[in-house]
Amino acid sequence: MQCHRVKGQADLVLVHGQFSLLMTLETPEEPPMIPERFLGVDLGIVNIATDSDGNSYTGTPVDVVRQRCSRARQTYQATGTNSAKRCLKQRARHASRFRRAVNHSISQQLVAHAKDTQAALSLEDLTGIRDRMTVRTGQRTRHHSWSCNPLRQLVSYQAQRAGVPVVLVDPRNTSRGCSRCGFTDKRNRRSQAKFSCLRCGHTAHADHNAARNLATRGGVSRPDLCAPVKGQLAFDW
Ligand SMILES: [Zn+2]
Repeated sequence: MQCHRVKGQADLVLVHGQFSLLMTLETPEEPPMIPERFLGVDLGIVNIATDSDGNSYTGTPVDVVRQRCSRARQTYQATGTNSAKRCLKQRARHASRFRRAVNHSISQQLVAHAKDTQAALSLEDLTGIRDRMTVRTGQRTRHHSWSCNPLRQLVSYQAQRAGVPVVLVDPRNTSRGCSRCGFTDKRNRRSQAKFSCLRCGHTAHADHNAARNLATRGGVSRPDLCAPVKGQLAFDW
């Protein structure tokens, strides 16, 4: 019988009157997989993640909780008592725990889908994107507060552990360009949800179209990752 020793560390901590055992474990990473294709992932605002296969990983439950919290906050703030403040803090903790759980679940599903289908993940390279991006004021808080960074970090981390390669690609015009013919125009994006190409008439959910552009760019930026299939396009939509 083989015995695998798992190295790790455990700390017992007391947080808000509750004991928790925090454990870190060193588990081996899986060897890198050789992908056959790229799975583009659009980390959006309304749908938290959409992949180029058309799967949508929604953040709706989080928004529901967030709204509930903000309504509760107004009520509690109006009261202003100490116990109200305590309730408020507790609710904030619950909300952040819930967000983490949703992020974990989304990234796990995404990475599992990539692995199952022998795909490398193609994500937007967001270095300096805030300078370029225009987000409506109402969505700015949501966007900056959580939708991108923690989830991106989790996806990258879990992908690495699972041996799924990740490439970061140029994010410019991914939402305006047609994933079928490449025609790029601001007016292709009819609304938050709808993409409709003015040249070829291709219509799709806007996030799905963007994710497909990301998948294509993954293949352009890292053709070395996937062995080319003879006489055939790497992507056959
Ligand atoms: Zn088109």
